Amino acid sequence: MMDASELYQSIILDHNRAPRNFRAMPEATGESEGYNPLCGDRIKVWLRVQDDRIVDVSFQGSGCAISKASASLMTAAVKGKTRAEAEQLIAAFHDLITGSGCRDDLPAALTALGGVREYPARVKCATLSWHALKSALDGGRPKSVRGSEIHL
Ligand code: ZN
Repeated sequence: MMDASELYQSIILDHNRAPRNFRAMPEATGESEGYNPLCGDRIKVWLRVQDDRIVDVSFQGSGCAISKASASLMTAAVKGKTRAEAEQLIAAFHDLITGSGCRDDLPAALTALGGVREYPARVKCATLSWHALKSALDGGRPKSVRGSEIHL
């Protein structure tokens, strides 16, 4: 039987190897690109919002296993959510990664990334796509986020 950390590692490896929703989205209503200069991760997030609900979300980019797995898990978690629910998830994930602890309002798969808080250098890898998602939600128009604008 796998212990928790092995299980978490296998979730991250799986999402890195076969990322979900990994495609561009020409019909997007919002998009944003995040760049993490510390690690070289570059993730672009697209979403389509209809009647205040995220009906589709996708991403593309290159980066380390953590950044890709986090983006993949994120798209799976927020698809179908309302804007308010997505913002709540973003806040909960932020708490998880920065060490405010495991929140029970997070999907179990996302908690696989909780171990990242032990490695401060990887925190930006894990949160990059989430910042891009928030920016895409807020802006609603194509725009990009630079690494220097990412504050945690
Ligand atoms: Zn990285």
